[in-house]
Amino acid sequence: MSNQSDVPSGHEDLDMVLNGIDGSVSKILNRALDGKDISADDAVALLNTTGREFHSVSMVADELRLRTVGDVATYVVNRNINFTNVCIKRCGFCAFSRDFRQEEGYFLPAEEIIRRAKEAWEYGATEICVQAGLPPQMEGDLYIKLTESIKSELPDMHIHGFSPEEVLYGSIRSKISIKEYLIGLKDAGVGSLPGTSAEILDQGLRDRISPGRITVDQWTEVITTAHELGIPTTSTVMFGHSETYKQLAEHIVLLRDIQSQTGGFTEFVPLSFVNSEAPMFLQGLVENVRSGPSGMEVIKVHAISRILLNNWIPNIQASWVKEGSRMSQLLLTAGVNDLGGTLINESISTSAGAQHGQLMRPAEFREMIRQAGRVPAERYTDYQIKQVFDKSDCPVDALDLVGDNVEEIFGSYKKLVQMDEYRFEHPTSNKSRMMPEDQSNVIV
Ligand code: SF4
Repeated sequence: MSNQSDVPSGHEDLDMVLNGIDGSVSKILNRALDGKDISADDAVALLNTTGREFHSVSMVADELRLRTVGDVATYVVNRNINFTNVCIKRCGFCAFSRDFRQEEGYFLPAEEIIRRAKEAWEYGATEICVQAGLPPQMEGDLYIKLTESIKSELPDMHIHGFSPEEVLYGSIRSKISIKEYLIGLKDAGVGSLPGTSAEILDQGLRDRISPGRITVDQWTEVITTAHELGIPTTSTVMFGHSETYKQLAEHIVLLRDIQSQTGGFTEFVPLSFVNSEAPMFLQGLVENVRSGPSGMEVIKVHAISRILLNNWIPNIQASWVKEGSRMSQLLLTAGVNDLGGTLINESISTSAGAQHGQLMRPAEFREMIRQAGRVPAERYTDYQIKQVFDKSDCPVDALDLVGDNVEEIFGSYKKLVQMDEYRFEHPTSNKSRMMPEDQSNVIV
């Protein structure tokens, strides 16, 4: 299908490009333009492109994005609340977590989590993203109780919370099934789950970089059960560390297969590995770990994600936390239609060494999107549009008025790990901070 007339596109420049590149690459790209799914092996071939073939991958991804979601590019006003960094696991890529014996362990009590959620609401947030470490001997229903507490104060705030790893931990600590735990979360008011703790869904690789982490089968069970119960989730990949292109492509194809059965993924978010503070890189804990993806790989992975998933998951998100605002803007030309959230507090990537700050103001999103020739819109978590901004719309949101003193207003991870006020205390201590209104949350 390399004939120009076979390409069902109004994009003559694209037809010309595809006629002038390597035949095998052009064949794959034309198949995608014909609306067909490409295979993991096809994706590997695209991941190996350079030069004009590399550019053609981006151009096809951009064309598919245009056909599927048009020119609107979205963002959501949200706040991250990573309520504890204390964790029983030791994932090799994680610089956020602390052992409970370490001085820097913190645990936010419920009232502080609610205060942060209320503050976010007042600043225009429609979503809070709640994820954290796995504190030792946690009361099993902590996540459910926390959700109920937040919802009782802020019934209209969307709670995007609790990764598959946390759902699994909650169910184990509660001695109930994953399904029963998810029903509890849904009844409490959780609106969607982050599709994190996926990294690369290849068991051999997971055993190498994060032994003891949620398995591929368990991750799939949490996600498919959530979808079955009507709880949507996002989907992610962490790339640029130690995976092969084949593992990366097969990961995305696995997500596509799940989506074809459940339809429960709202978006796909490629996440570049941030190396500088990651233990497996810094301390050489795992052999052959790279220092993150190259710039061209970042572009290719986003573009190929669009090409692989376009028939199934309409939204491809760029993470400004991982990629920075300049690369994220460029990714809008490579299949991306969403730039994620304002975040307000970003801890996990920052602790791993990401340098892009903890807040992206709505006006900054709108500017990035307009400069890329696209139409900015604020969305809700489920991708319903809250407001589209045409050229004459220049609103000033409350978050736009926040100056450089972001950390003074909203706090930061750096401050949290230094504060005695929220110091984690092990459940066997008399002064647990797990849930101040219910000390019985702690199972000793
Ligand atoms: S990635 Fe999550 S589970 Fe793994 S060590 Fe970090 S906080 Fe714990």
